[in-house]
Amino acid sequence: MKKIDIAAELYQKNAGLFRCPICFEAVEVHERSLVCPKQHSFDLAKKGYIHLLKKPMDSDYTKEMFQSRRAIYDLGLFQQVLDEMEVLITTHVGEEELSILDIGCGEGSHLRQIVEKFQTSVGVGLDSSKEGIALATTQMDRLLWTVANVEELPIATESIDVVLNIFSPLNSREFTRVLKPGGVIIKAIPGKRYLQELRDALYGEKGRSLDTADAMTNYAKRFEVLEQRSVYQQIEVKREHIPALIDMTPASWDATDEKKQVLQSFERLNVTVDVELFIAKIN
Ligand SMILES: [Zn+2]
Repeated sequence: MKKIDIAAELYQKNAGLFRCPICFEAVEVHERSLVCPKQHSFDLAKKGYIHLLKKPMDSDYTKEMFQSRRAIYDLGLFQQVLDEMEVLITTHVGEEELSILDIGCGEGSHLRQIVEKFQTSVGVGLDSSKEGIALATTQMDRLLWTVANVEELPIATESIDVVLNIFSPLNSREFTRVLKPGGVIIKAIPGKRYLQELRDALYGEKGRSLDTADAMTNYAKRFEVLEQRSVYQQIEVKREHIPALIDMTPASWDATDEKKQVLQSFERLNVTVDVELFIAKIN
């Protein structure tokens, strides 16, 4: 079966999770297109995703950057974070037949790994970057990938059990709208020392540390936090993966080529994975 037909079947089965990005009406799947009663129509791409952006959006994130992320995630950078997320979901929501929406899913590794943990669940990955979504379609087949405006979601009201918001901006109005009663948001934000060694190497001794206080306060104000967990560990990145580590993050954008070259000559770099996780429901 062709990738596009597998995706069409999956979209057909789960059309109720989506809405028209133009008029917000419910949508149906006709052959290989998503259509609304007003005849707005969106075709599936050959690779098996749907483009629901009204107009293309500019992005600083390139295909190479998403490929680098994939390579570093494959080393297990987020393994413990994802394991903790599984525990939070099981504890606060359950395990059966969940609809899981990853907003700002990029190349899709995190969503794939979460949905693998919940076999009867369906996963929807949204990102405004076509490059990210095109790469995401090489993940497993039972996930729905969509290029969309993450500020105005093409997702039906009260259709989602779990919203994943991993290192991406918070949109409390839209997140609240799409969640079912009893649904939860899991937010992951980088802790102060996330990839600190990379920043130290690229910017000298005064490697910038991250300020995440605002993101936390913002979130706690808008939602009722049920539980918070911290992940703090070190991952060894060997020389062959150091270029991907540099390319995966905007933290490297201001570094000089000279600093990057020095870092690439390291045998290995132990990097800190410092992530704060919150699970919350609507206030
Ligand atoms: Zn429409």
